[in-house]
Amino acid sequence: MRRAVLWFILLSLLAVAVIELRAWFDRHPQDLPWTTLDLAHPVGRFTAVKLAALGSAPAQCRALLSDAGSPDRPAPPRRAGSECGYGDGMRLGAGTARIAAFSPPGLVTSCPVASALLLWDERVVQPAARRHFGSAVAAVQHAGSFSCRRLYGRATGPWSEHATADAVDILGFRLADGRTVSVLRDWRGSADETAFLREVRDGACRLFTTVLSPDYNAAHRDHLHLDTADRGPAGWRACR
Ligand SMILES: [Zn+2]
Repeated sequence: MRRAVLWFILLSLLAVAVIELRAWFDRHPQDLPWTTLDLAHPVGRFTAVKLAALGSAPAQCRALLSDAGSPDRPAPPRRAGSECGYGDGMRLGAGTARIAAFSPPGLVTSCPVASALLLWDERVVQPAARRHFGSAVAAVQHAGSFSCRRLYGRATGPWSEHATADAVDILGFRLADGRTVSVLRDWRGSADETAFLREVRDGACRLFTTVLSPDYNAAHRDHLHLDTADRGPAGWRACR
């Protein structure tokens, strides 16, 4: 009799645990590797690897951007030699009241980079700018995405993510009130600018699989390199 009661209690506890776990799964799809990416979800543990995986699902990637109300539009495919080019390019749209423009305009990135940039702008850059400066970011200043080159411009060795437009280099930000924040000038500058730049770097690490800042090396003293290299769900990620 006592044994039966104990079993009953044990099974009841187990049932409650299973129900709680299922509810947690339903509330945290962004923290589970097997759920489908939705750009409306919060940023979670697996957001960056899912964004990177969109590199092999261009139609899904473009549908996600369109569903999210992104102003980005498909760009024509580009080929440059056997190792360079892209088929999933997006021409980043003009800024809106909600999201920043990219300056200079006309930036084309791969679709995963465009998707990660949209989330970075909305979830990381704009909230950080409002908190630190009381102003939105009107424009993100960049140094381009596509470039047919190997790592560090060497003659041999692995190709850069820039060779497939899976990377973008960010130089700084122009606020809606006209002020500017520059990676080169402000990485070790006054408190607000420095804190803002570190916050947007750290926030990028939850969306891009590679983030390299001035903390990494002298080659990155004037920009943040953000890329969506797809190294699989268990692949390494760099945030430096
Ligand atoms: Zn770069």
